[in-house]
Amino acid sequence: MYLILKCPGCSTFTYVDKYSPQRLCPQCGEIIDVADATIYLEVADYRLAESIIAELKKYLTAQKRKDLTEEEREQIRKEYAEWMKQALINPEKANDSNDMSKIIES
Ligand SMILES: [Zn+2]
Repeated sequence: MYLILKCPGCSTFTYVDKYSPQRLCPQCGEIIDVADATIYLEVADYRLAESIIAELKKYLTAQKRKDLTEEEREQIRKEYAEWMKQALINPEKANDSNDMSKIIES
């Protein structure tokens, strides 16, 4: 499992293995303490983490904002859980990360 989080120093989204306590920020080099960081989402696969981060960035850029609200974080968690359930029922969808993009954009 991977956690999607944000660097407290430069606000770059990144992801980290669920079991590692720290992550070096790829942008500014700050060591992010996972315990102190805001976790946006927990996902099964790093490729999924990458595509979700790309969507989050796109979404925030389009909205001219720097961050999601607490409600939005809650919303993506719920919708991701729902999306995973669908993927279990219909495994072909699990490989289609475009579905996740639609969720974030909606
Ligand atoms: Zn950083």
